[in-house]
Amino acid sequence: MNTRDRVVVTGAGGFIGGHLVAELLRRGFEDVRGVDVKPFDDWYQRAPIENLVLDLRTPAACEESVEGAQVVFNLAADMGGMGFIETHKADCMVSVLINTNLLVASREAGVRSFLFGSSACVYAAEHQTDPDVTALKEADAYPAEPEDGYGWEKLFSERMCRHFHEDYGVVVRVPRFHNVYGPYGTWDGGREKAPAAICRKVASAVLTGTNTIEIWGDGEQTRSFTYIDDTIEGIFRLMTSDVSEPINLGSSQLVTINRLVDIVEEIAGVTLERRYNLGAPQGVRGRNSDNTMIRDRLGWEPSTTLESGMAATYAWIHEQMSRGVDDTPLSMAANASQSSD
Ligand code: NAD
Repeated sequence: MNTRDRVVVTGAGGFIGGHLVAELLRRGFEDVRGVDVKPFDDWYQRAPIENLVLDLRTPAACEESVEGAQVVFNLAADMGGMGFIETHKADCMVSVLINTNLLVASREAGVRSFLFGSSACVYAAEHQTDPDVTALKEADAYPAEPEDGYGWEKLFSERMCRHFHEDYGVVVRVPRFHNVYGPYGTWDGGREKAPAAICRKVASAVLTGTNTIEIWGDGEQTRSFTYIDDTIEGIFRLMTSDVSEPINLGSSQLVTINRLVDIVEEIAGVTLERRYNLGAPQGVRGRNSDNTMIRDRLGWEPSTTLESGMAATYAWIHEQMSRGVDDTPLSMAANASQSSD
């Protein structure tokens, strides 16, 4: 990538896209265009660049988005935590239109490099039945048995990228993100993931003086969670590498959801009574990122500890709630969703 390239970031009003635009500007990129379907008031971050509100499910919107571009980062998708993807499978599948139309438009516009934000949800369920997991390596996506809906879309779109590379020479990069968390992301409303939801529930308990927390499942399901700064650093390293096949971009620090709650309680200085909702969506039983390939190919892997990443995330969510950014009454917010994915 060259700082004079025209760079397009889709999903720029969202979590990862917003952070990526900010980092591109910090690194001196002069011609960055952000695109998202949400009205500007709902963007988590809005940089002083060319920003477009477009629905990328249509070919015309994709053509307008990539006009004149050399590099495209596709971080737009209709997605959320497990509470969302288990109940919106068709919506998740429709995101295939975004990546497909963007790839077609990018090829026609002569785009040089194209990144698609894939997910650990492509991995076959049979490898994720035990909380004491063997970390997932890239080959474990096949034989295919991904997360129903969301994971199938990601796996199909990965393959679209592969064939646009093989048949048309588009340079593609396909990071499989593992549970990304941090400030300026979704923390309420039903699309949030476990780290943000747990921060919100603990902050709500602190702000309202209640001392209980609802946990989805028995809390013994395991995950790894990746701090946003590591995700962004990994994206830049991947773009300057020669890795065109899908690659894990995730932390390998495995924790149970109960341990994640311990960490947030320690940050907030409280101990809450835990109520377990065994009927709530939980996703797979255990999941971790095998980082052998990223260490070999990029000479790097995510290293931010959960303790420090969650401290920054908790501080931001606590601030949003203290300022009344959200209209949800705190008592309701405390009981809203928390998913493991
Ligand atoms: P996000 O929901 O914060 O951002 C996605 C953005 O895409 C949203 O702002 C949304 O408005 C936009 N969008 C949705 N439909 C659109 C459309 N039709 N046209 C234009 N924009 C549209 O999510 P995120 O966490 O920033 O995720 C970015 C990408 O990374 C997504 O593809 C997601 O599936 C993938 N991913 C994220 C995680 C994670 O933990 N955050 C994990 C795995 C994969």
